[in-house]
Amino acid sequence: MRTKIVAGNWKMNKTLAESKALVEAISDKVNGDKLEDTRVIVAPTYVNLTGVLDSTEDSVVEVAAQNMHQEESGAYTGEISGAMLEDIGVELVILGHSERRAYFGETDELLAKKVDLSYKYNLEVIFCFGEELEDRKSGNHFKVVESQLKNALFHLEAEDWRNIILAYEPVWAIGTGETASPEQAQEMHAFIRKIIADKYTQNLADGISILYGGSVKPANAVEIFSKPDVDGGLIGGAALNVDDFVAIVNAI
Ligand code: PEP
Repeated sequence: MRTKIVAGNWKMNKTLAESKALVEAISDKVNGDKLEDTRVIVAPTYVNLTGVLDSTEDSVVEVAAQNMHQEESGAYTGEISGAMLEDIGVELVILGHSERRAYFGETDELLAKKVDLSYKYNLEVIFCFGEELEDRKSGNHFKVVESQLKNALFHLEAEDWRNIILAYEPVWAIGTGETASPEQAQEMHAFIRKIIADKYTQNLADGISILYGGSVKPANAVEIFSKPDVDGGLIGGAALNVDDFVAIVNAI
């Protein structure tokens, strides 16, 4: 049985006080529920990580960073290293979000370096990938996704996959209000599991949690999460509202 995960990516939103209030409200609401095999994760902006970690000391809610740099240290003004994240107690990092790829030029090759460094700093990775609208329109979406995974992750040894959570996020569905249909999500997740099984083993592929991301909301979460290869969601906009986020957690 795979671990179910609902992760909220807060992006560049929320002050420290707002971040603490939000995570405390989420903790209050989800702690009482029977989470069983479900992990709940929030990803505040860098400057609010410590505050949110403090607020989650006695909570089941886990805290992820939204990014980290591919070098260990040095003259990279404005950047944050894996060592810094580990030092303040962060144990998870989102890598490869489509906004990092689009606005900060992150490529699969650069992401492979970040993934490699994550092991040194004991960071579990939520690895994001997904096709653009033109890829889907031209029928290239499977090819694009396969090459993203091959280029960034297929150099890993089988045992290294214990630290990887996948998040399939079709770019055309992120922040647009347009969601992949549950069938489109299932079809891609099954494909992803198959290419991992072909490269590694069926056993390994069956154990990887694959999240769907792209305009998940309380109204569509149950249907998307009901698909057999969808193991949860990476949530953007709806993660900023406690009731919406908790409703999505409960949809699992
Ligand atoms: C995201 O940014 O990872 C995301 C899925 O955003 P939204 O839920 O707002 O589409």
